[in-house]
Amino acid sequence: MTPSMTPAPLSNPTARATQRAFAHIETWVFDLDNTLYPHHLNLWQQVDERIRNYIAKFLDTSYDNAFRKQKDFYRRYGTTMRGMMIEHGMNPDDFLDFVHQIDHSPIEPNPALGDALERLPGRKLILTNGTRAHADAVMKRLAVDCHFEDVFDIIAGELEPKPLPQTYDRFLARHGVDAGKAAMFEDLARNLEVPHALGMTTVLVVPERTREVFREGWELEGRDAAHVDHVTDDLVGFLEAIAARGAAPPCSPPKAREGKRRPLTLARRSATQRRRT
Ligand SMILES: [Mg+2]
Repeated sequence: MTPSMTPAPLSNPTARATQRAFAHIETWVFDLDNTLYPHHLNLWQQVDERIRNYIAKFLDTSYDNAFRKQKDFYRRYGTTMRGMMIEHGMNPDDFLDFVHQIDHSPIEPNPALGDALERLPGRKLILTNGTRAHADAVMKRLAVDCHFEDVFDIIAGELEPKPLPQTYDRFLARHGVDAGKAAMFEDLARNLEVPHALGMTTVLVVPERTREVFREGWELEGRDAAHVDHVTDDLVGFLEAIAARGAAPPCSPPKAREGKRRPLTLARRSATQRRRT
């Protein structure tokens, strides 16, 4: 595929014929951290540091060793918590409570996101590896909590995180979601592999300023993977474009688009983004 950094796939004449669209979508599924709010807020860094502190204390080890454990477990088990539970018998309750005690104030209300969510036809759900309390705090800060029907958190997932297949199965069953009529938005490509295999339309949400934030290389891998239908660095603009198109075909013939005004989100693209394309 040819990933696009904007809603362009909706009208991109070069988009693959196999690229899944949105006209049939009834349920909109969103990851939480670094998807609903910008990665550059570095909110997750607070959680990241508290995880490291917890491991150092729990294992009575150095900060550096705790860091290595944390990243190794995150990569191999989907969450550091799962690795600590399996390899060190850690009880998750205290851990979850401790690591999510962060300052949510960097998150600003996002009325544009709220409006875009409101205009999407169908249910909206959160699917997160974090806790419900954390998700509620984030959604309240963003002022988008009223748009979501429910949160499926790590507890609902029986402490098994994305990208484990059984987590998605539990989510779909719990909320009666038809995967073939659902779309999923995520900032980690690996968490979209199973949803795509289940029939969901997948959207990878990438940081607006990728070069300015710390991000492990493997987390950015997969943008070109077949299980990623769309890529955007402007979630609000992307959702606005979907809502604006309604039930119209996602990939109109190129001629039909000539002379029409530019997609709304083009005006929102950053200078960095424009240089990239
Ligand atoms: Mg995320």
